[in-house]
Amino acid sequence: MSFSELGLSTKVLDAVTSAGYTTPTPIQAQAIPHVMQRRDVLGIAQTGTGKTAAFTLPMITLLEQGRARARMPRTLILEPTRELAAQVEENFIKYGVNNKLSVALLIGGMSFGDQDVKITRGVDVLIATPGRLLDHYERGKLLLTGIEILVIDEADRMLDMGFIPDIERITKLVPFTRQTLFFTATMPAEITRITEQFLHNPVRIEASRPATAATTITQRLVASHGKDFEKRETLRRLITEAVDFNTAIVFANRKTEVANLHRSLLRHNFKAVALHGDLDQRARMAALDAFKTGDANILVASDVAARGLDIPDVSHVFNYDVPFHADDYVHRIGRTGRAGRLGAAFSIVTRHDEKMVAAIEKLIGQTIAWEGPKLSELPPSTASADDGDRPSSRGARGRESGRDRGRERSRAPSPERAERAAPADRAAQEPRPRKRAGRTDAVQAASFVPEEMPRPMPTAKPARQPRREAEDDDRPVKGLGEHMPAFLMTSVRKSPVK
Ligand code: AMP
Repeated sequence: MSFSELGLSTKVLDAVTSAGYTTPTPIQAQAIPHVMQRRDVLGIAQTGTGKTAAFTLPMITLLEQGRARARMPRTLILEPTRELAAQVEENFIKYGVNNKLSVALLIGGMSFGDQDVKITRGVDVLIATPGRLLDHYERGKLLLTGIEILVIDEADRMLDMGFIPDIERITKLVPFTRQTLFFTATMPAEITRITEQFLHNPVRIEASRPATAATTITQRLVASHGKDFEKRETLRRLITEAVDFNTAIVFANRKTEVANLHRSLLRHNFKAVALHGDLDQRARMAALDAFKTGDANILVASDVAARGLDIPDVSHVFNYDVPFHADDYVHRIGRTGRAGRLGAAFSIVTRHDEKMVAAIEKLIGQTIAWEGPKLSELPPSTASADDGDRPSSRGARGRESGRDRGRERSRAPSPERAERAAPADRAAQEPRPRKRAGRTDAVQAASFVPEEMPRPMPTAKPARQPRREAEDDDRPVKGLGEHMPAFLMTSVRKSPVK
C-alpha cells in the first residue's frame, strides 16, 4: 500500500514525501480512506503508531475545499495536554507546508489576546485543551457552530485527567452533523460509553493490540529495599551499569517523586531533566527539548506527563516505581524497543510491589526475569529502623486504590486545571528557569566536545561522583542534620534571678 492510494491531495502527498515517509503505517492505511469518505472513526492506537498523521493528512486534504470565517473554526482537535496540542500543531505545519492553512492553538500559558486575534481572523484548524477552549467560549469570542470535523485525541487520558464532563459539554456546542474522529489507547468502560454517545456508526480501527509488549524489549525485575535512598542507589547502579545505553526514561508514580528523583540525579551529576504536571509550560518544553536534542540523556517523568508524547526512541526504561496499573507498565516500556530496535526495561521492585508485579505479569502473559537476587534473596537492609521506616515512596498508604489515585489526580493541579485556575498570562510571564551552575556543569561539558576529537562512547555514567557526605541527599537526615537554624545557635543570656 502506498500513500497515493489513500485519496489524499497532491499537495498533501508532496508534503508526505518531503517528510520522508514512503509507506503508510497500518492505522494510516486503514483510517485515511474512511476519513476521506466523511465517516466517523474510532481509532484504538497508541502514540508511535502514526495516528496523528492518520487524522491530520486527510483533514488537510478535506480543508482544501472552502474557507474559514471569522470566529468560526472549521475543525476542532481536543488534546489532554499542552505538549500534545503543540505536537499536533507541528504536524499540521509539517504536512500542510503546501497548503495555506490557518491553525490556532488554544492552550494555557499563552495570552488570551493573541489567541483571540487569530480566532477573530478565522481559522481552519483549532487545536485546544478542553479547559482553555471552554474559557474562550465563555468569553463569547468563539463560535463552534461551524465545526465540520471534531477530533478527540488520547480520550482515555482525558478520562484519567477528569476532562470527560468538559468534552461532553463541547460535543453539545458543535453541530450534530459534524464528523468525529476519536482516538484512545485503551477502551475502559467509560470510554466505550462515550463513544456510543459521540460517534455515529463509526469505523473501528485497532492499530495494535493494546497491552502487548514489543518482543524486542528485554524486561527485568530488580529487587531493592524500600527506602527512598536505597531505591535511588539501585537506580543509579542500574543506569551506570546499563549496557548499550543511549537515552533513558525513568518513571516514578508521583509528581513529587519525579521532582525529588530529578534533583537527586542532578546532584549525582547525571544529565537528567524532569517532566511532571507542576512544571510551568516553559520548563516542560525546555525539558523535552533538552532530551530531544541530546543535552540530557535521562528524562524523569510521571505517567500522566509522558503518555502520548512523541519522545524519541530510548534505549532504556527504568521503573523507579512499579506502576499502580498494569496498563501503564505496557505504555512505559513501549517507549523503548520501537520499530524493531532493541530496548531494555528495568523495574525496581520492593516487597510492597509484589502484587502489582503479579498483575503486570498476568496482563503481558509472561513472567519477568530477575536481574540479580530476587526479593527473597536480598541481603538485609543496612538502614536502621529509625531511618524513617516507612515503605518507600508509596509509604504506608502503599498500593493506592484506583479511587485514591483518581483523587490524587483530580486534586493535583493538572496542567489544564492549573491553567484554568491561574490568571491567564501568568505562566507566559514566568521567568526562564535559570541554570544552576554546579548542577548543570556535566550537561554543558558534555556538549562541548570538539568535532575533530573522537567522541567518547555515549555513557550514562556521571562525570564525577560527589564525595562530600553532606551532599549525599539520599540518606535520611536525623534531627535537623546540618541545617541547624542560626537562631538556635545564638547564646542566650540568662536574666539574673531576683
Ligand atoms: P504518532 O503516533 O502520531 O505520535 O507518530 C509517531 C512518529 O511516527 C512521529 O514521529 C511521526 O513523524 C512518525 N510517522 C508518522 N507516520 C509515519 C510513516 N508513514 N512513516 C514513518 N514515520 C511516520
